This record gives sequence, structure tokens and C-alpha cells, in this order.
Amino acid sequence: LKRCRPEMNADNLLLVLTILGVIVGIALGSVLRFANLGPTEKHLIQYPGEILMRMLKMMVLPLIVSSLISGLAQLDAKESGKMGSWALLYYFSTTMIAAIIGIVMVVSIRPGANTARDAAIQKGEEKEVSTLDAILDLIRNVFPDNLVQACFRNDETIYKIVPNKAYNASVNGSEPTIRVRSLILKDGMNVLGLITFSIGFGTILGAMGPEGQVMTNFFFVLNEIIMRFVKLIIWYSPIGIACLISGKILEVENIADTARMLGMYMVTVLCGLAFHAIIVLPGIYFAVTRKNPWTFFRGMLQAWVMALGTASSAATLPLTFRCLEENNNVDKRVTRFVLPIGATINMDGTALYEAVAAIFIAQLNRMELTWGQIITVSLTATAASVGAASVPSAGLVTMLLVLTSLGLPTSDVTYIVAVDWMLDRIRTSINVLGDAFGAGIVHHLCKADLDKIDEEVIKEIGEQ
Ligand code: ASP
Repeated sequence: LKRCRPEMNADNLLLVLTILGVIVGIALGSVLRFANLGPTEKHLIQYPGEILMRMLKMMVLPLIVSSLISGLAQLDAKESGKMGSWALLYYFSTTMIAAIIGIVMVVSIRPGANTARDAAIQKGEEKEVSTLDAILDLIRNVFPDNLVQACFRNDETIYKIVPNKAYNASVNGSEPTIRVRSLILKDGMNVLGLITFSIGFGTILGAMGPEGQVMTNFFFVLNEIIMRFVKLIIWYSPIGIACLISGKILEVENIADTARMLGMYMVTVLCGLAFHAIIVLPGIYFAVTRKNPWTFFRGMLQAWVMALGTASSAATLPLTFRCLEENNNVDKRVTRFVLPIGATINMDGTALYEAVAAIFIAQLNRMELTWGQIITVSLTATAASVGAASVPSAGLVTMLLVLTSLGLPTSDVTYIVAVDWMLDRIRTSINVLGDAFGAGIVHHLCKADLDKIDEEVIKEIGEQ
């Protein structure tokens, strides 16, 4: 007991410091806005936050690969199949529910009906991207042709950039076609591709038995090292989060004007996200496990705050692992398998946001949606959330897919860019909660089988 106590206190202290980091960040950013700081000062304030993001991102590649491979190597095909099916069923259904909640909210509140289209926020260039392009791009990235390249880059697609009038004038009427990164994974590594490879590798390794033991041990130890590494990094996170948040608040121009123009839109997104986080996710968790969802949420608090600070589910992933395994006692075999996949493809917050944003833009364009179009939005918002990378503002990029499916100009996405920095962190925190509740549910559903495997192992060791 004596040995446990300092651990518990340290965790609580860290949580308090992290929450304090958010509060200090908001206060500092708001106060310094009056100081008219120059770009260099703003950059310096935000800089320690950038370092936190870099340190967390540094962990993502070895964490995803080692956890998936070591997790799968410990499971037999039947068990991993069962776990994977429950996880996918949960991911798909909760994401669909989130998109539907978004649609119901935006259709009933109608935030775009009373907002003047011209109230907007300057328009940018127009990209010609077909829905088919985006979907083919998503699937292409699931199968990387080069594993090393997948570690730092996704496949690119050429999209034609059609400049708007203002842009046209500034480039003397020329019409450039530039190469832009894939819509699906805006920057960073091709996580989907790495997941495919790791799943295959881990499953085969598991089936090899004693022959593959050396490799299994290697990935197991690698995973353990990364988790210990993370334990060190998170002590720096309160400072990093404070700087990330204050830096963002300093960066944003015309907060009051934007709030006036896009206020109802933000309220709609926030109401939807709150409903999903407070009613839907805990409700499903309770219905399946009969356990207290609040206690579960309390265990995830650190990861939730980290998601608010970083706006990236990938950067939060190391913390999500820690909270689930250490605070909520979810079996490591479950977290290792389902979390990397969940953090990459299960984004309830993003799906809800994409649905609201697309219909909001349709309302701005005075477009009446048919039932068919509403169903299209729910499906494309779900697909776009699967395709979104777990990095800041990725949802904004895959938004283009939803807009295109409604026949709306993709440049209209610039209407909502101004408030994305804020909505991004909140939807990311819901994405992380969705992954966490999912892992808790899968653990509950597979617990009996996992216990049986443990018993057999203990029996085998006993017999030897
Ligand atoms: N930032 C989100 C995440 O990392 C993705 C998004 O932009 O919606 O989960």
C-alpha cells in the first residue's frame, strides 16, 4: 500500500497540473491579446507547445507499430477476429449515430438560415476534387507501396486549383495547377498503411508460435520502453498545453466578429458534441457493461484534457493508453489491438462536426436538402471521419469530400475555417472519449475469453 500511495498522488498531481495548464493558457492568451505582441513574441509563447507536440508525435510511430504487433502476437486468430469485429461494429455504429445527431441538430437549429452568406470570412482558392478521387485515395493509402515512405508520407494526388477572383488578380490571371498533399492524410505519416502492415505482421507472428518468440519479445519490450518514455514526457505536458492554448488564442484575429457571425454554428456543433459525450457514449457503455460511465470518464480525464490541448488524437494516443490501462484497468491485449485502430478510424466528434458543417454551408447557400442528400451527408461524413488523419484540422480537409457530395463549392469550407481551431480541440476530445469507451466495451465483451486464455497459460506453466 505504501508503494502505491506516491504513485496515486503523482497521477493526481499531474492531472491537476494539466487542468491548470489549460486554465493558465486561456488566461494568459486572453490577457496578452491586449498587449499587441509582434509575430516573434507570439511565436516564442507558442514555442514550448510546439515542442510538446513534436515529442508526442515522435512516440506515435513506434507506439502504433509495437502495440499492434505485440498485441496481436499474443492473441490467437479467433480471439483477435472476435475483438476486431466488436470494435468495428462499435466504431461504425457510434460514428453513424454521431453524424445523425449532427444532422438532427443542424436541421432543427438552422444556424445557416440567419447568417448572411457575405458575412464570410474571405474565400480561398477552389479545389476540384471528386468524391471518387477522395475515396480511391483513402483506399490507396490503406495499401502503401513503400513501407519506409509510409512512415513519413502518404500518397499524393494531383488536384487542380482553380483560383478565385481575388487570387486571380494577385497572380495576374494565370491559372496555376499545383500539387497538393492527399486529401485524406494532410501531413505526416500514412497511419492507415502502417496499421494494415502491423495487423498482418502481428497476426502471422502470433500464428508462428515459439518460432516467432524472439520477434514477439522485441516488439513487447519496444512497447514497454515507449510507454515508460511517455511517462517522462507527460510531466512536461502542463507547460506545453498552456503554451499551445495561449499561442492559439493570440493567433486568432477578430474573435468577437467571428463569434457574432458563426456563433449559432458553433453552438450547434457544441450541443451535438455534448449530447454525444454525455448521453450517447456513456449510455452505450452502461448498457453493455453495467458499470459506472462517470468513473470511467474520471479515469480518462488526463487524456481528455490532453486532447483539448493538442487537438490531435494521435498525439494524445500515448496518454489514452496510459489512462485506460492504469486507471480503468482495461486489459493490455485489448488496448494494444483496438486503440491504434480506433485513434485512426473512429472519430465520432469529427463525423458529427462534418455533418453539421456541410449542412450549415448548404443553408448559407440557401439550398434545401432532399432526404437523399441528408442520407448522403450521413454516409460521407462517416467516410470523411474515417479518412481524416488524427492531426489538428484534418477534419477540415476531409470536409471537402462531404461538400463535393452535396455539389457545393469546396472553397466554401473557408467560411468555417475561422473557428476550426476551437471546434477542432473539442471534437478531438470527443474522438478520444469514443475510442476509450470503445476499448472499455470490447474489454467487457471479450473478458471471459481472455480470462480463459490466462487460465490455460497458468495451467501449462504449472504442468511444466
Ligand atoms: N483533430 C482531429 C483528431 O485528431 C481530427 C479532426 O480534425 O477532426 O482527432
